[in-house]
Amino acid sequence: MMNKIQMVDLYSQYKRIKPDIDEAIQHVIDSCAFINGPDVKEFADHLIDFTGAGFVVTCANGTDAIQIALMALGLCPGDEVIVPAFTYVATAEVIALLGMVPIFADVERETFNIDVVKLKNNITPRTKAIVPVHLFGQCADMEPILKLAEAHHLKVIEDAAQAIGAIYTFSDGTTKQAGTMGHMGMTSFFPSKNLACFGDGGAMFTNNESLAHTAKMIANHGQRIKYHHDIIGCNSRLDTIQAAILKVKLKHLKSYCEKRMLVAKAYDEGLENLEELEIPFRSINSTHVFNQYTLKIKGIDRDALKKALHEVGVPSMVYYPVPLYKQKAFKKFSKADVNFHVADYLSEVVLSLPMHTELGREEQSFIINQVQRAIQKQRK
Ligand SMILES: *Cc1c(COP(=O)(O)O)cnc(C)c1O
Repeated sequence: MMNKIQMVDLYSQYKRIKPDIDEAIQHVIDSCAFINGPDVKEFADHLIDFTGAGFVVTCANGTDAIQIALMALGLCPGDEVIVPAFTYVATAEVIALLGMVPIFADVERETFNIDVVKLKNNITPRTKAIVPVHLFGQCADMEPILKLAEAHHLKVIEDAAQAIGAIYTFSDGTTKQAGTMGHMGMTSFFPSKNLACFGDGGAMFTNNESLAHTAKMIANHGQRIKYHHDIIGCNSRLDTIQAAILKVKLKHLKSYCEKRMLVAKAYDEGLENLEELEIPFRSINSTHVFNQYTLKIKGIDRDALKKALHEVGVPSMVYYPVPLYKQKAFKKFSKADVNFHVADYLSEVVLSLPMHTELGREEQSFIINQVQRAIQKQRK
């Protein structure tokens, strides 16, 4: 029998590696090393090997990771930080929380990622940093972003919460992983991300040893030596149990990425001929690890399609229904004379289909057939 279709299927994924996961968790319980146990450092070391980052600093969640990176880079209240107008709230939230000013830049219609021209137009003498987001699993165009940053002395913090494992190719042929190209980068291990733990978790990446030390200190109450606090920090730790789980799952991350790419390919083939939708665009300089498979729905009512799919047992999600600049919390940062035509457009047309490592052929065909049928019905 076909499994019930879910946006993500964490239980089936767990069942495949249950003995390893259970053993890893039990081992932490038996040792009672719940905080800063050996698994935390081991996982960080394995993540260095996987990503090619110089240093990895783990923390409690992805949102904290962006916040700590901003703090480690010495950014100050009043500094302007440019972010895409179309992303998850966390990216801009921590900037505002630290008293900095999030400046929204519109995104590209094709990739959903920050538009480099719009980014450039938003640079002022107060701009101090850029937070490009590798949305849905594909890298933003990092080469021109890094060049702009260098020319204007800006810090770059990559939000790779949705893109761990994605590979960006520079024009000289060198390749780097998402999160490892800027001054700092981060990812999240939230259960719906590509490398997911059984709760909250996050990590920062950097190639700069002193930044790594500072970030580590900030995440640990500003102390390097216990009870000696040199700077203001916070309490943001990756639990040992989560690290132990992640250590097991990291071994499978490459195959998880490949599985997602295969599902995406099946969706592409089944849906590319429908003129009412646009399949995800692939950049020439980045692989796509498909944290989300996001369609653009054209000429028919996206929400009616979503409802019709729901009725036949196919869940889908709108990431994201409201661009950040339009959110009540961010109103004070938006300027009346700036428009975000692409972010506005995308918020009205995007629809993400179920995407996870456990989607079998049968489920994929069912989803494709149901999307085809639902669209044909809407044509009438
Ligand atoms: C999930 C996510 C975050 C935040 O990660 P948490 O671990 O949930 O705090 C930040 N940015 C983006 C783009 C995300 O998708």
